[in-house]
Amino acid sequence: MSIDTDFNETLNPTASQQPTPGQQRILVIEDNADMREFLQRILKRRGYGYLGAVDGAEGMALALAERPDLILMDLALPVLDGYEATRLLKANPEFAATPIVAVTAHARIVDQERAIESGCDAYISKPYSLRQLFELIEQFLPPAA
Ligand code: MN
Repeated sequence: MSIDTDFNETLNPTASQQPTPGQQRILVIEDNADMREFLQRILKRRGYGYLGAVDGAEGMALALAERPDLILMDLALPVLDGYEATRLLKANPEFAATPIVAVTAHARIVDQERAIESGCDAYISKPYSLRQLFELIEQFLPPAA
């Protein structure tokens, strides 16, 4: 089991299978399990729905199946890296308006430029603060009034 369906239910066993109406859902494509768990906790606490995938290919499949409102895309990923996954998703007109935020391992200018060239809408560099992360997310997904 690599797509985090079981993972979600383990952490939140009483959660309804149906997403909360109007809840914005963020797909986290990240191969590091600790990072996924961390992001799942903080995104849920902040009121977002969470979807998780462990590599670029699964991330693409989940994006196509679930149509998340925003994608947080690690760039260094197995199977299909974040650059290529972004390029493939953004080649699909249905994802033209879906924000993809790249997560770069270091504040490396070449990685940031390559992320934007691949079609990412923005990037954030590890290590980032929660404040930086949520400020960026809220640029694309304004909090409900
Ligand atoms: Mn990675």
